[in-house]
Amino acid sequence: MYHHVKKLMYTVNIGEPDVRFGNMLLEQFGGANGELAAAMQYTIQGWNCVDDLGRRDLLMDIGTEELSHLEVVGALIRMHLKPLKTNRQAAEADPLVTIAGGGGVALFDSMGNAWTANYLKVTGELDVDLRSNIAAEARAKIVYERLIDHTDDPGTIDTLQFLMTREITHMKAFTAALDSLEKAPFSIGRLKPTPGIVDEYFNGSTGDGDEGDTDMRGPWESSFDLHLVESPMNGGKGLSVGEVNGKIAGEDRGRQDESQKATTSVADETLGKKGAGSSRAGNGRVATAKRGR
Ligand code: MN
Ligand code: MN
Repeated sequence: MYHHVKKLMYTVNIGEPDVRFGNMLLEQFGGANGELAAAMQYTIQGWNCVDDLGRRDLLMDIGTEELSHLEVVGALIRMHLKPLKTNRQAAEADPLVTIAGGGGVALFDSMGNAWTANYLKVTGELDVDLRSNIAAEARAKIVYERLIDHTDDPGTIDTLQFLMTREITHMKAFTAALDSLEKAPFSIGRLKPTPGIVDEYFNGSTGDGDEGDTDMRGPWESSFDLHLVESPMNGGKGLSVGEVNGKIAGEDRGRQDESQKATTSVADETLGKKGAGSSRAGNGRVATAKRGR
C-alpha cells in the first residue's frame, strides 16, 4: 500500500531559473540512471524477493526513498523550467517539454528519450541484483556530481548535494546487504566455473599504439589466482579449452558450487521476521533441486 505525504523529503529553493540546466536535470528524472529507474528497480526486486524478508525490507525501504527523490528532483526541475511556459527563447531549451508537456516534467531524459523499463536490472538472483544496485548508486552519484559542476545556484547545489549524498548511503546499505550474505565473492548462481579456464587472463590486446599505449601488466592479470595467457597469434598457448573440454575434471562440470547461496544468512534470524526459517528451507530446496547427479 502506498501513501503520499504532502511534504518533500528535502526542501527545494532556487535563485534564478535556468531552463537549460532544468533540461539537464531531466537526466535524473526520466533518464537511465535517474530516480524513477532506481525506485522501480529496487521496488520490483523487493516484490520478487520472497525468500529473504530482511533484504526485501531493505529493497522496499530504498525503493520508496528513491520515489521521494524523484519527487524532489521533479520539484527542482519544474522550478528551473518555469520560464519555458511564457518565454519563447527559454522554450527553445526544451521544445518537447514546452510544446508536448506544457512546461511540466515528464518521463524523458535530457535528450528527450522516453523512460523505459529496459533501464532496470532485475535478475531475481539476490546477490546479483545487489551488485547491480551498488553499481546503479555509483552511476547516480557521478551524474549528480556532474550536474553540480554545471550550476552556480546555491539552492540547486544544496538539493543536488542531498540527493548525491543519499546515493552513497544506499551504496553502503546494499554493500552491507551483499557482504552479510557471506557468499564467496566469485560464487554466482549454482554452478561452478570450469577449473583451469576460470583462472586464465587472456592477453587479447597487444603491441604498441599511436597514443603511447603498450602491453601493460597489472594486478588484474595475477590476483585471485589469475595468470596471464598469451594468444596463439603471439606464440602463446591460448586458453586451455582443448585440455579442459571433455577431459579434465569432467565430474566438476555442471556441479554445484558449495559456497553460501544468495539468500538469508544464518545471522538474519536475529531480524526476527517470520520468514527467516522458511527462507533457509527455500535455499536448501534450490540447492538440491537440479544437481543431484
Ligand atoms: Mn536517489
Ligand atoms: Mn539511491
